Amino acid sequence: MQNELTSNKFSIQYMRSFATLFLITLLFTYCRGQSKQGAASVYLTNYIIPKEKEAIGFIRVADAQIKGITLAGENAKAFTISKDHLLSVKRKNLKPGNDWFDVVVNIKTKQGELTDTLRVLKDQFIPNKVIAHRGAWKNTGATENSIAALNHAVRLGCGGSEFDVHMSSDSLPVIHHDPSIDGISIAKTGSAILLTMKLSNGEYLPTLESYLKEGMKQSKTKLILEIKPSELGKQSSIALTSKVLAVVNKLRAQAWVDYISFDYDICKEAMRFAPYARVAYLKGDKTPDELAADHFSGLDYHFSVFDKNPDWISLAHQKKLTINVWTVNEKELMEKLLKQKVDFITTNEPELLLSIPESR
Ligand code: MG
Repeated sequence: MQNELTSNKFSIQYMRSFATLFLITLLFTYCRGQSKQGAASVYLTNYIIPKEKEAIGFIRVADAQIKGITLAGENAKAFTISKDHLLSVKRKNLKPGNDWFDVVVNIKTKQGELTDTLRVLKDQFIPNKVIAHRGAWKNTGATENSIAALNHAVRLGCGGSEFDVHMSSDSLPVIHHDPSIDGISIAKTGSAILLTMKLSNGEYLPTLESYLKEGMKQSKTKLILEIKPSELGKQSSIALTSKVLAVVNKLRAQAWVDYISFDYDICKEAMRFAPYARVAYLKGDKTPDELAADHFSGLDYHFSVFDKNPDWISLAHQKKLTINVWTVNEKELMEKLLKQKVDFITTNEPELLLSIPESR
């Protein structure tokens, strides 16, 4: 009797242990799958190869501790990885003529092994202060937020070209300023319909993917991506943010893209998904101290904000935040802001701003 009881107890304990082990394995497999599907489970803290230094950025894995990294692929010999996972360039081994390089990384973590490809880009961005607002459209005949307007901004030699992103009802991010196009709500309309719609210059409504692919053909002009709050509310805005980050991740466009938004939660969500991302806030109601505490890279405010808070320019610079001012179309104001040492000016008149020597 005693033996039978002990044996039953043992069987129950054995089954419990087996069930626990099974559940842990299931959870682990699920988590690994999740991290692979995530917007950026493996990321660099910086994707741009500096002009002078060899160090590029640290390799990180979201929610995992790295045990070791090896480099693979055709560019492995042109890079090194340190014990603390800092990726550096060996300039003499870089393939001549290329602007960007894909580095294959094999990463061991406590949870298992991961392989990913990281695209790093030589810093050849034009270091001027000119950001073309919705591309260069006003004096070129291109429609705002069209691929033609982006290409005009690149041709002019703007340091950056800004564009706006909304999302269709079936989660396709597209480039457009207003929430509606020809009276049709983007957020409430499927991509099959939206993709048949044309801009006034005859271009089809650009998708985020087609727009980024065009922008990545060059490496002189940064792509300033504005994530628009959704008219359907916060949840849709956050869904758009994660979709945008997933597209950037898929195209390996991290080096080209800076993010801006009027919605603070969108900005924070972008940084949560992509801790490497350079994110600036547009609305003007946060102090430089608040933005620095939340790890923003900069503020991007209407010029009137600096009339009300003249000390914010020096305060922002003390906090190592970049200062972008929008939307400045008058020469006098451009000159005044350049004298105040703002870092960037967003304008519908990039040609005019470029004609002022202090903008370069
Ligand atoms: Mg915009």
